[in-house]
Amino acid sequence: MIGDASKSQDVSAEAAVHIAALMDLFREACRRQDWTLNKERGLKGWTDVRCSAGHDFSVTALDVVTSPRPFGVDPGEPWCGECRNISWVAQCQADLKVVAEAQGIELTVTNKRDATGDGHVVFSAKCPEGHVFTLTGARTRTWRGDPVVLCARCKEVAEFAEGFAKIEAVVRETRSAIVKKYVNGADVRCRRGHLHTFSVDSWDGRQAIRPDFCGDCGKMAKFQSFSESAKDLGITILESKWIAASRPHRAVCFAAHEFGLVPNKMKRGCPECPRGMYGGSVPPHDVYYVVSGLDATTGKETVKPGISSGSGYNRLRQHAEDGLTAQHLRISGLPAGTARTLERFVLDGLDREGWLSTRGVEYFPSAALQDVLDLAGEWFTNVSGLSPRPVVVDVSDVYSAVEPPEVLDVVDVDVETAVIFDSDDARVELTR
Ligand SMILES: [Zn+2]
Ligand SMILES: [Zn+2]
Ligand SMILES: [Zn+2]
Ligand SMILES: [Zn+2]
Repeated sequence: MIGDASKSQDVSAEAAVHIAALMDLFREACRRQDWTLNKERGLKGWTDVRCSAGHDFSVTALDVVTSPRPFGVDPGEPWCGECRNISWVAQCQADLKVVAEAQGIELTVTNKRDATGDGHVVFSAKCPEGHVFTLTGARTRTWRGDPVVLCARCKEVAEFAEGFAKIEAVVRETRSAIVKKYVNGADVRCRRGHLHTFSVDSWDGRQAIRPDFCGDCGKMAKFQSFSESAKDLGITILESKWIAASRPHRAVCFAAHEFGLVPNKMKRGCPECPRGMYGGSVPPHDVYYVVSGLDATTGKETVKPGISSGSGYNRLRQHAEDGLTAQHLRISGLPAGTARTLERFVLDGLDREGWLSTRGVEYFPSAALQDVLDLAGEWFTNVSGLSPRPVVVDVSDVYSAVEPPEVLDVVDVDVETAVIFDSDDARVELTR
């Protein structure tokens, strides 16, 4: 049941008084804006008005009286959009003159207006460098309020200079080299030999000029840490390079199972080995070796330093099958952790010397062999408590000592001539 009819009539009659009062307030507001009311259409209808500058438009009385800032504008400002635009354009123009003067730019007014439709006046301009261009007040400041460089050509010159300065800094910092310089960029070669192109003609391009620019090196670093984590699980990565965190990489476990190891699912380790095997019971790496030969994967003469366990034969047989048949060094029975420390030392040293790997992060051109052996020797000399036995091996002797490569069996180098430092020394010193 809705109240009786006489009562609802009372409500509308009572409201009429208030509506009339609101309309009075609306007219008062229009008067203060210096508007002329052409046709009133009540509280909610569109009332036609004309501002003092003669712009015609319509507003609702409700919009005007129900907000302290009708149309988002203070009552002290013109509510007429067109008037407001005109004053905004005038402000822009005044600001343009200030900014242009600060930058030494001569402005000459034209009778054109810009394409935005806002009514910005087009000026022809000349910068101190003599560049001639046109501009308006539409964009003299950034959103932060800082003045923009008005001459696009000068801005570009400054940006290019900034970009090239960044390239120089990055090249210095990363020990890379500029291979070729272009007007808008440069080709660089990172210290590992990867080529990369920097461009200075876009914001994104200039942002990309950073010390970590080399994607190939980034991938190598990823591959290296993946390979190290695999070693913690007693797994050797056979894959030549990083593929993706979610993709399988060819690998082999201590028990010689071959499988695909997915970087972001490494915990399980080898799927064929019994679960729990990797809870600390992984046989330690205790063999350090250096092999070389014609790598079947890359077709390049290659030297490969590495680590293994036991006698190392399993791993060395795999290398022999890959073409790396010549052994230059095989030190077995190293105390726990030593082989990996030595390996890290040699790999870091090769990186410092600027050797670029031929695949993965542990295969190098055979020309690096002497550095590999020197580094291994240096490590043994430096490790405290080890007494080095400085038997220097001539590399060519080692090569000639190797049997023909068609024999795929692991070639055992004569220990008396090939082992630079006898691991027995190490074992005695470190386990005592
Ligand atoms: Zn107006
Ligand atoms: Zn200029
Ligand atoms: Zn690189
Ligand atoms: Zn396994």
